[in-house]
Amino acid sequence: MSKRIVVLSEEIANKIAAGEVVERPASIVKELVENSIDAGATDISVELEKGGCQSIKVIDNGEGIEREDVALVFERHATSKIRNFEDIYKVASFGFRGEAMPSIASIARVELLTRRRDNLAGTKAILRAGSIQEIAPAGCPAGTQILITDIFANVPARRKFLKTEATEQGLCLDAITRLALAHPEVRFKVKVNGRDAFSAPEARDSSERIAMVMGEDFSNHCVLINAQKENVSLTGFISRPEFTKSNSKSIYLFVNKRFVRDNSVTHAVLSAYRQIIEARRYPAAVLFLDLPPEDVDVNVHPAKMEVRFKDSRGIYDLVSKTIAQNLSGVELASGNFVYRLKPREKTTTSSGFWRPKESFTRESAGLFSRQNLQRAISDDLLTRSVNQSDADVVTDYARSEKKITFTNSRYLGQFADTYLVFAGENGLVLIDQHAAHERIILERLKKTAAQRIISQPLLMPEVVSLSPGQVALFSGYIDFLREIGLEVEIFGRDAIVVKAFPAMLPQIQPRELISDIADQLGEQTSMPSLQEKKEKILAALACRAAIKANHVLSGEEVAALCRDLEETPFNLTCPHGRPISISFSLSEIERLFKRK
Ligand code: ADP
Ligand code: MG
Repeated sequence: MSKRIVVLSEEIANKIAAGEVVERPASIVKELVENSIDAGATDISVELEKGGCQSIKVIDNGEGIEREDVALVFERHATSKIRNFEDIYKVASFGFRGEAMPSIASIARVELLTRRRDNLAGTKAILRAGSIQEIAPAGCPAGTQILITDIFANVPARRKFLKTEATEQGLCLDAITRLALAHPEVRFKVKVNGRDAFSAPEARDSSERIAMVMGEDFSNHCVLINAQKENVSLTGFISRPEFTKSNSKSIYLFVNKRFVRDNSVTHAVLSAYRQIIEARRYPAAVLFLDLPPEDVDVNVHPAKMEVRFKDSRGIYDLVSKTIAQNLSGVELASGNFVYRLKPREKTTTSSGFWRPKESFTRESAGLFSRQNLQRAISDDLLTRSVNQSDADVVTDYARSEKKITFTNSRYLGQFADTYLVFAGENGLVLIDQHAAHERIILERLKKTAAQRIISQPLLMPEVVSLSPGQVALFSGYIDFLREIGLEVEIFGRDAIVVKAFPAMLPQIQPRELISDIADQLGEQTSMPSLQEKKEKILAALACRAAIKANHVLSGEEVAALCRDLEETPFNLTCPHGRPISISFSLSEIERLFKRK
C-alpha cells in the first residue's frame, strides 16, 4: 500500500461521517424527525418497512425547502440553523452541523419532495450514493416528504451489523417515542409495514403526552415534580416506589427538549431511590431540565446523545434533592409492596412471610414456589406434630434439636434480613438469600423447559401496557414464551395480553414479569444470540419468583433453601453473575483480630 497522503474524495468522507451519525435505521428516523420538528412541523408521520431496514418515509407539514436550497441540503456543513461558531451555544434546534442529510444520502437512496407554503410548485430530488440524480419541479403538499431506501446497500459491512427486523423496528419506535415525549405539540403517526403502530394525537400539555406514551401503568404510579434553582428548571414525572423496572432504561432525560443520556443525572435519580426500592430494581422517570443554552454544551457526541453541563454538580444536587423530597411525601400504599421507607419490624414467627396454608392448593402451588417450599417442610413436620398450628410448629421447630446445615456448615441466623450466616469447618459463610433462590429457580426452570413447562390459564387474561417498541420486540418471542408456559398475544400497538402463566410460578404478578421481560429483550448486548435472549427471559422469571432481600426467613425456609441449593448446579453465582456465598476463613478472621 502506498504511504502517500491523499485527500479523501467527498464521497468517501461522507461515508465515514455517516458511520458516526447513521449507525442503523433508528438513527435515520431520529435525524429525519428532528429535521421535521426543526422545520416547525406540527404533524409528522413515519412509515417503516421491515423494521426500517427496507425503507423509511417521513412526511411533515413543516416549512419546506426552496428549490435553490435543495441541493445544499445534501452538502456537508450546509445548514440553515447556524451562521457562526458562537451560535452553537445558543441553538434551540436539534440540528446545526449540517451533517445528517449528506451522511444519510451517502449510504442510501433518497427521494425528497418538498414545497414551501407560499410557493405554487414543489421540488422533487433523487439521490443515489450521495450524488444528485434529479432535481425537478413537482406538485406536492406544503411540507417535506423524504423516502429512504437501499439503506447501507453500498456499505455491506454495516448492513451485517444490523440486528433482527424486530429489534431494529423496536429501536426506531424508541427513537420516535423519545421525540414524542418532548414534543406534545406535535402529532405523531407511525405505520409499520402498512399498519398503524403508534399514534400520539396533539396533547394539551406535557403530562397528557407522557401518559399517552409511557402507558397507563406509569401514569397511575407517578408523582409530578417541579423545581427551580437559579436559572435551571427541573420538571417531569417520577415513578412511585411501588413501580419498578429491572433496568434503568425507563429513566428519560431531556435537556432543553433534547433526549440525552447522562450517567451523572441517572446516578442522581438512583441515589434518591436507593433506600426506598430494592437493590437492583430501578425507577422510571421522565425529566425535563431546562437551562440557558450557553450553560450546556451539546456538541460532545456525533449523534448528540450526550451533553456537558457547566455546573454538573449543581445539576446533580438539584435532581437528587428534588426527587428525594417528592418521594418522602409519597404515602405508602398499603399492600404487599416490596419497598419500605423504614426497616420492617422483625417478626419472630413466619406469619408475615408465609401465606396461610389454606391459600394454596396442590394444583395452584408451583413446584418450588414459596408456598411449595412451605408445603415441603410442613409435610415433613406434620408427620411429627400433626395437631399443632402452624405457629406452634415453627417455634417447635426452632427449639428442636434438628440443626439446619448447608454442606456441613451450621446455620447461625439471618443478618440484615438478607444474608444467611453459617459456621463451617473452614470459616464463616454468608449466603445471599435472593441470589441463592434465584439460581435454584433458574436451574429448575431450565431443566423443566427442556421438556415443556406446564402452563396454567389465568382466570382473567391480563392486559399489560407496553411501549410500541417493546410490543415489537415481544412479537419475535411468542413461540418461545409459549414453550416456557407463558401464553401472550399482541393486543393492539401498545399492549399484550397474558393468557396463561407457568404453573410452577403462580405467585408472580403478570404485569411485573412482562415488564421485566420487555426490559431484558430491549437490552442491547453486542451480539445477542437467540439462546442468550431466552436465557435472559428465564432469568427474569427466576428473579421475580425468588424470595427478596430484606425478608425475614423462618428456619424452615432456610432449611428448604439450603437443601435445594445443595442439589443445584452452578450454585456459586446468581444468574446475574453475582456471588451467592462469600466465606471468611478462620485464618482471615484471626488476622483481623490480630491474633496472627
Ligand atoms: P442540520 O439539521 O444539522 O442543519 P441536516 O443535514 O439534518 O443538518 O439538514 C440540512 C438542512 O436541510 C437543514 O438545516 C434544513 O435547512 C434542511 N432540512 C432538512 N430536513 C428538512 C425538513 N424536513 N424540512 C425543512 N428543511 C429541512
Ligand atoms: Mg438535522
